[in-house]
Amino acid sequence: MNVLIRPPGETWQTRRVITLDDCRALDADDPLLHLHDRFELPDGVLYLDGNSLGPLPRGVSRRLQQVIEDEWGAGLIRSWDTWIDLPRTTGNKVAALIGAEPDTVIVGDSTTVNLHKVVTNAVRNADGGRVVTDSGNFPTDLYVLASACRVAGATLDIVEPNAVDRALADDVAALVLTEVDFRTGRRHDLPTLTALAHQVGAVAVWDLAHSAGAFPIGVSAADVDYAVGCGYKYLNGGPGAPAYLYIAPRHLPTFENPVTGWFGHADPFAFAPEFTPAPGIDRAAIGTPPILSLAAFDAALDVFVDVDLAAVEAKSRSLTGLFIRLADEQLPEFEVVTPDRRGSQVSLRHQYAYAIVRLLVDRGVIGDFRTPDVARFGLAPLYTRHTDVWNAVAQIAAAVADEPWHDERYTGRQRVT
Ligand SMILES: *Cc1c(COP(=O)(O)O)cnc(C)c1O
Repeated sequence: MNVLIRPPGETWQTRRVITLDDCRALDADDPLLHLHDRFELPDGVLYLDGNSLGPLPRGVSRRLQQVIEDEWGAGLIRSWDTWIDLPRTTGNKVAALIGAEPDTVIVGDSTTVNLHKVVTNAVRNADGGRVVTDSGNFPTDLYVLASACRVAGATLDIVEPNAVDRALADDVAALVLTEVDFRTGRRHDLPTLTALAHQVGAVAVWDLAHSAGAFPIGVSAADVDYAVGCGYKYLNGGPGAPAYLYIAPRHLPTFENPVTGWFGHADPFAFAPEFTPAPGIDRAAIGTPPILSLAAFDAALDVFVDVDLAAVEAKSRSLTGLFIRLADEQLPEFEVVTPDRRGSQVSLRHQYAYAIVRLLVDRGVIGDFRTPDVARFGLAPLYTRHTDVWNAVAQIAAAVADEPWHDERYTGRQRVT
């Protein structure tokens, strides 16, 4: 189902414009169409921001109700007997989505905190060496790297995204990248760059915030050393959902949590005065997990239970390819900044992107704006339809025609964009 950049039989001589009927045909042919019903999506809204905050999966409210009333209300402290395993059992659901071995992923804390934990380990022997990342990386990742490099006495080398491979040399201790660029949607070649890092003796750390849930990732197959990612984007875990952290089995015995706490202890309820790390992935935990958020994330992951991730990736290609082609045909005022090797979003550049995105939100087409001039549209494969893409592009064209940049309501910046 990899289509609309080139519909079946099309050559450049026969190329014709895409129609709404083409989009309907693609939906009719979509093996994942039924997954749309697994989400509570409000009427009258075209939601293209699931890469920032995934929508509410059906079943999460019921699960939270049950955790609140039965487990907390009636079970009280006795419920800790089941809650205690949630960071690992939820971690195993994430492991299935990122191609990790069982019991190598733990859920908890935020992506920022988890990145601190793994990067500290990745750079701890880097004294005098370089740590390579790219200039498109998410700011929190850059802040974490700057801090960890300072502590380890390493040099942070921030290179252009397409120069990462050339920056790898014998003095590099770690390569730390986000696979999909949050601004442009550009996707790094994770297996190749991981292998190149290993060739020069560096460890490879990947942030999968914009990857997991949008396409399959083989962290184990690619021999990734450490990985982290968000629970609330394509994994739909809810606002502020805990994040996840992966440690390759070969690193588990020597992994040192820089934030030692009792939940990372081998036997928390022995209340021993000295810290002894847990033997497995639990050593990456810190303190008491937020059970309500964790339970919501755990329930949200069940939407993936029977879903073929190869089909998810194919649909992501189809949706983003359709969007790019329609933008090419119908949105000449915009520059498409998302390349062919991409995640599940399309980013369009326009001088007045901010005002256009604000007007679109008012009209129920929810994408987002990334400074300085990018309108970003997340096309989450589980619930976005090809006809939604058609409607979104039509609405974007209509919004531009209305020139919202002349309207004060759409030009003043809000705190969250
Ligand atoms: C969304 C995102 C984060 C967010 O980190 P939090 O700690 O959850 O606020 C970090 N890194 C990347 C690459 C992201 O896309």
